[in-house]
Amino acid sequence: MLDQPTERVQRSTGSHRLPPPPSALRGRIVVAAVAVGAFAAAGAGQTLQAAANSSSSDEVTPLASASEGAAAFGVGGTAPAAPQILPVARTVDSASEVDKLAKSQQYTAEREAEQAEASRPKYVRPAAGAFTSGYGGRWGTMHLGVDIAGPIGTPILAAADGVIIEAGPASGFGLWVRVEHTDGTITVYGHVDAYSVSVGQQVQAGEQIATMGNRGFSTGPHLHFEVWEPGGMKINPLSWLNANGISL
Ligand SMILES: [Zn+2]
Repeated sequence: MLDQPTERVQRSTGSHRLPPPPSALRGRIVVAAVAVGAFAAAGAGQTLQAAANSSSSDEVTPLASASEGAAAFGVGGTAPAAPQILPVARTVDSASEVDKLAKSQQYTAEREAEQAEASRPKYVRPAAGAFTSGYGGRWGTMHLGVDIAGPIGTPILAAADGVIIEAGPASGFGLWVRVEHTDGTITVYGHVDAYSVSVGQQVQAGEQIATMGNRGFSTGPHLHFEVWEPGGMKINPLSWLNANGISL
């Protein structure tokens, strides 16, 4: 098909009043081949190849010989055997339209998920209740956190997204939970009655991790809440909460 006689090309470019163009028939065959998903067949590959060659020279080029005709219909001949995927194949591929729709729906779902992620709180008050003691000197010692008092069983929430790095017994705190946040800051939740997380677990801001208790050196049910900077410095939790839009 590649070495078409010069005489044939001249004849075809000079006249468009030839009998029904074989290319029309070939076109239908291409469509049919696509419709039944016959890409895998070598015959379909050859048919597409023939159609491509014909459209690149002239649409109404008649076939010069029986062997070329056979090649065009994909039953033999000298056309290259390598299958070639043509743009025309995509225009009639309904599967790709379904795929586009699915992608569009997936896109919408991803946008909604992104909006939900953007609008959810990134910092929360770690527990409801009365703020009873601040950070700083107290009874001759340093109190390195803040206390929030409430009934035993009051939910204790992760103050920010993070991973649980400790959940269990701790000297003075009875039981505690520690959460490491993405920037390396660690929040500490002491005197808890019970915890509902395990080490390595990812938590989101506002997710319940424990309940308020009265364990350890405690004079009444409360949450003792600390904030440790990445270097280990125990800073005033009120400043950290305020800086992140939370006030106690
Ligand atoms: Zn305390």
